[in-house]
Amino acid sequence: MAILEILTIPNNILKQVSTPIEIISGSVKKLVSDMKETMKSSSHCVGIAAPQVGVSSRIIVVDISLNMKPHKNNGLLIMINPRIIYSSGKLKSREGCLSVPNFTGNVIRKAKIEVEYLDIDGTKKILKTSGFESIVLQHEIDHLDGFLFLDRVSSLKTDIFKRI
Ligand SMILES: [Zn+2]
Repeated sequence: MAILEILTIPNNILKQVSTPIEIISGSVKKLVSDMKETMKSSSHCVGIAAPQVGVSSRIIVVDISLNMKPHKNNGLLIMINPRIIYSSGKLKSREGCLSVPNFTGNVIRKAKIEVEYLDIDGTKKILKTSGFESIVLQHEIDHLDGFLFLDRVSSLKTDIFKRI
């Protein structure tokens, strides 16, 4: 396993639409385990998308149990080719991102989602979730389409905050 370098803005890979995984090969499995280790090595990090480590592939790793505050969660989630198939409600929260090191922003997301994805063994699964876990999944899936939370704030003037 290895800790991977996180790309930060304005790296162009972060703006690209990532490619679906067709075969969960040994190199995909190695990338996933490196992404897990990279996520755990960074304090407060609860999710990583493959483009953040320079790979334009549709893979995300999320574990909100790593957050300091307790939230209802499903532990470690490895999602290949994740797709939101249902969403409802609205939830506003302050988001941050390892790829946007100096800022946080207020973003309105869906409150509840259903995500269809492949697990690491290639089995198709559907996860229903809500609250913080739902927000983190939407943030990470956004990375696969080249979107950052900066693209989701309603006002660049009033909803972006410099980290101090
Ligand atoms: Zn991010």
